[in-house]
Amino acid sequence: MYYKNMSEPSACTFVATPSGKRITALLCRLRLPPERLALFLDVDGTLAPITARPEFTRVPVDTRRILRRLQASGVALAALSGRPLVQVRRLLLPLDVPIAGSHGAQLRFSAGRSIRSTAHLPPGAAAWLQNGVAQLPDVWLERKPSALAIHWRQAPHMQSEVAALAARFLERAPGWQLICGHCVHELRAVGRHKGVALRRLMRQAPFAGRWPLAIGDDRTDEDAFAAALELGGAAIRVGPAANTCAAWAVADTTALARWLGALLAPD
Ligand SMILES: [Mg+2]
Repeated sequence: MYYKNMSEPSACTFVATPSGKRITALLCRLRLPPERLALFLDVDGTLAPITARPEFTRVPVDTRRILRRLQASGVALAALSGRPLVQVRRLLLPLDVPIAGSHGAQLRFSAGRSIRSTAHLPPGAAAWLQNGVAQLPDVWLERKPSALAIHWRQAPHMQSEVAALAARFLERAPGWQLICGHCVHELRAVGRHKGVALRRLMRQAPFAGRWPLAIGDDRTDEDAFAAALELGGAAIRVGPAANTCAAWAVADTTALARWLGALLAPD
């Protein structure tokens, strides 16, 4: 309906490249009706530019408009984010899509249909971490459902101190792991990640039976990329494409929005 010159996804030859020109080649090699495509989208650094603080972040109006049009045409969309679910919903309004928040610890399929898993910490572990973070200037701790995020985007010189603090926290919290994102060290229970969320959504309508395409910008998205690839789909990395299993990349959030817009048929 609005894809251009596409062939079956199984015929795609994915090549590692950060080139926008080559990403157009991915588009050209797809010949999918919208009802066969499932897009799994990260938010920060993917749909929205990274900002000095998470509360400053906005998904551009044009990007949300493109996503709404994709959804209206039959593409299945879902957001996979490290943010709490309520924040993701707010950032995407008026778009209403299934959301995995807190890296999948929260999963909202539709209005009134959501699940939440709880990760337990030893008593005092979170308070111990809060106290440690308080010793690091311009570093702050965000408590999320089933996760703790140490943000250091305003203090990049503190990265090694943050890493050391996170390592000591893990000694107190067996069953938890550290994932490094953009200027954030995130601590969460082992086995909770975007790949699990993607697989879970892919077993449900409207995603089941579709071709999954995962799009994200940092380490926390690699689990979703791996899951999409294992299910026969593909992945796109936004930004520098080092150490990624995604075979495709675009330069930044603007380039991705342009590419998503190119999926739409002209009015
Ligand atoms: Mg991101």
